[in-house]
Amino acid sequence: MSILVIADVKNRTVNPATCELIAAAKKIAEFKNLPIYLLIPFKNIGGDSYRSSELETYIVDLTVEQYNPCILVTHISGVINEIQATYILGLHTPFTMDYLPSLSVTKNAQCITQIQYIDIDEYITVIRGSHAGKIDQHCILNTTPAILSILPGSFEPYTINNVKNREIKTIPIPEEEKSVNCRFITKDMQDTSLDEAEVIIGAGKGIGSKENISLLYELAKVFPHSAVAGSRIVCDYGWLPYSKQIGITGKSISSKVYIACAISGSSQHVAGIKGAKTIIAINKDPYAPIFNVSHYGVVADIFEFIPQFINFVNEND
Ligand SMILES: Cc1cc2nc3c(=O)[nH]c(=O)nc-3n(C[C@H](O)[C@H](O)[C@H](O)COP(=O)(O)OP(=O)(O)OC[C@H]3O[C@@H](n4cnc5c(N)ncnc54)[C@H](O)[C@@H]3O)c2cc1C
Repeated sequence: MSILVIADVKNRTVNPATCELIAAAKKIAEFKNLPIYLLIPFKNIGGDSYRSSELETYIVDLTVEQYNPCILVTHISGVINEIQATYILGLHTPFTMDYLPSLSVTKNAQCITQIQYIDIDEYITVIRGSHAGKIDQHCILNTTPAILSILPGSFEPYTINNVKNREIKTIPIPEEEKSVNCRFITKDMQDTSLDEAEVIIGAGKGIGSKENISLLYELAKVFPHSAVAGSRIVCDYGWLPYSKQIGITGKSISSKVYIACAISGSSQHVAGIKGAKTIIAINKDPYAPIFNVSHYGVVADIFEFIPQFINFVNEND
């Protein structure tokens, strides 16, 4: 029996958050006394440290251009058989989630997604948010195989110990199976203003309309080096461009301050704000999950609180 960690891929390199996956796998490995294997889904991509890591490593003989989820499922399934993997871990990102559920069907395995914690007691319990983060679901892993997707930002990254001349096993793919029919299309996320801003104001659905975003730009003016961003719903509605979306399918921020305005705090949004040093939430619902991850919280209607706050600052400046 063993554990298989499937590296995530972002911008033609191994996603650094793969180290968070390894940290999650280590928790299970220590409890069950199992070896961990690493699988890298493509050849010729960046991320050298992973290839020389202490983990026994497999690389799929595919280029990014030849990506096809069906091919990955078939051949990862072969590796699972070979190493008798009982726990298979992937990162909860659009790339990995393109094939992980299908892998669980192929292996007749339970698939538990968006895991934020792993509790080891008598059993392994994985914890995930549900109902927009208002409820924590505790799932006991008492059957295997188990396929687990780990929410980025949930585990302290594991520091890889490198091994010189690590032997890597290549998973051969027959030429006739390689396809060029699927493509990765990256959304325009090149907006650097969020990377550089010290204070980010986040707009949630409670802002109500595109016009009302101007209130948040007014709030942003109070802080030097600030920017306005939003939740996915706000971008889906077209109130802000997708380059301003924060979260698991948007940007991850690491600003000094993040002010979440009328944002509920879904796990997908929270995954993108964990790098912010101080999180402040303004929400009229005192039970909104965003308060669970905030350092400071204001229970108020944003349309009442923000204008008063701006006036207060301007009068006292
Ligand atoms: C695969 C997948 C990927 C996703 N990726 C992302 C992602 O990257 N980023 C992301 O953000 N979401 C993502 N989502 C969507 C996510 O699940 C939530 O739906 C979304 O984050 C909710 O956005 P919200 O908080 O703005 O809206 P809501 O959840 O509707 O919350 C609105 C909040 O505003 C408060 N409110 C309303 N009016 C006021 C007011 N006047 N004053 C104060 N508070 C008020 C309410 O109390 C509520 O808490 C993803 C979902 C899926 C399934």
